[in-house]
Amino acid sequence: KGLIEVSDFCLSYETLDGAMSAVEDADLLVRPGEFVSIIGPSGCGKSTLLNAVAGFLKPTRGTVTVDGEAVKGPGADRGMVFQQYSLFPWKTVRENVEFGLKMRGVSADERKRSARTLLGLAGLSQFEDQYPDRLSGGMKQRVGIVRALATGPRVLLLDEPFGALDAQTRQIMQQILTNLWERLEISVLFVTHDIDEAIFLSDRIYVMTARPGSIKAEVTVPLPRP
Ligand code: ADP
Ligand code: ADP
Repeated sequence: KGLIEVSDFCLSYETLDGAMSAVEDADLLVRPGEFVSIIGPSGCGKSTLLNAVAGFLKPTRGTVTVDGEAVKGPGADRGMVFQQYSLFPWKTVRENVEFGLKMRGVSADERKRSARTLLGLAGLSQFEDQYPDRLSGGMKQRVGIVRALATGPRVLLLDEPFGALDAQTRQIMQQILTNLWERLEISVLFVTHDIDEAIFLSDRIYVMTARPGSIKAEVTVPLPRP
């Protein structure tokens, strides 16, 4: 049974030239604790699908459910990490991480405690009072991941999170993500166009066809995790 279930999913964008179909008839499933990737060429609709799971976009047809409940918008049960770091530049690292908790009325002490625990797990303790513009791309993306985890989501959604990073930083980030995934026992839905990255990280991979995207194949990754 899926924690996340996407069925008969279609999504069209309204453009000046009329409706443009971005995803057609996609079905996917993310089980509790599973690490699932979606791969496919640029423009095939990976982000579209992920954004619909996050609740930022509404399917034109079909359904997206989390734990059997239809997704009606963004929620604390789904943490989202974007390719662009999208941190608040005027907030410190810890304030960035605390933001979602603050919005939900969590007390200052409680916020600080949760933020510090997660920052520690991601190796960011010594940066908690720094501002994002002082950090490297990899560090910013680490903060992005920690921020997405702060509200205690059941699934972490990541859209090409390491696409802008150099190869070495990318490797470190993959390791950190794997560690967090194991430690926190969450599910992950990971979008990438890098098949090596998908194979390295995932339990299962969905392959999308070129635009308009549809799920073409489902691959269970047989490789043991390092
Ligand atoms: P991917 O993540 O696989 O690169 P996207 O989901 O970003 O693909 O885009 C799928 C298709 O939808 C592309 O052709 C893209 O240009 C188009 N698209 C994405 N966002 C919009 C939008 N807001 N309005 C119109 N077309 C869009
Ligand atoms: P990706 O990295 O997923 O390929 P893109 O670079 O295609 O993303 O898109 C970046 C942003 O531009 C997204 O917010 C997407 O919704 C928007 N976008 C992409 N294609 C179009 C389009 N044809 N019309 C309007 N917005 C678009």
